[in-house]
Amino acid sequence: MNCLSVIQYAVEVLKIKHIIVCGHYGCGGVKAAIESKSHGLIDNWLSNIRDIYRKRQKEFHSLTDESNKIDYLCELNVMEQVINVGNTTIIQNAWEKGFNIVIHGWIYSISNGLLKDLDFSISSIEELKLLADK
Ligand SMILES: [Zn+2]
Repeated sequence: MNCLSVIQYAVEVLKIKHIIVCGHYGCGGVKAAIESKSHGLIDNWLSNIRDIYRKRQKEFHSLTDESNKIDYLCELNVMEQVINVGNTTIIQNAWEKGFNIVIHGWIYSISNGLLKDLDFSISSIEELKLLADK
């Protein structure tokens, strides 16, 4: 079962109302994406995170500490994935059928054990369009 069929089953059969995309701070993958060296096979996955980093470069200038940069990119990546889930045909169809599904972006800190709600939630196609345009 892949990720999409899990979402499809949850939405269409279980009729869940909330989907949580949860990332974590200090992510090694995000760290590797900031570094410029090549990592072979995982470069494909990393390039998506690199794109976010490049696109939002200005927001990183004020962050001098390397770990702050990584953590901020971890948050941005969660938000990007919330948008990606919202863009799946499964979710788009569900919203069109009037299902009330909310996609949330959360992030976990391994160092203090706390979950943080990024306050980045999408519950309709209109909201998705507004956020994706930013
Ligand atoms: Zn990670």
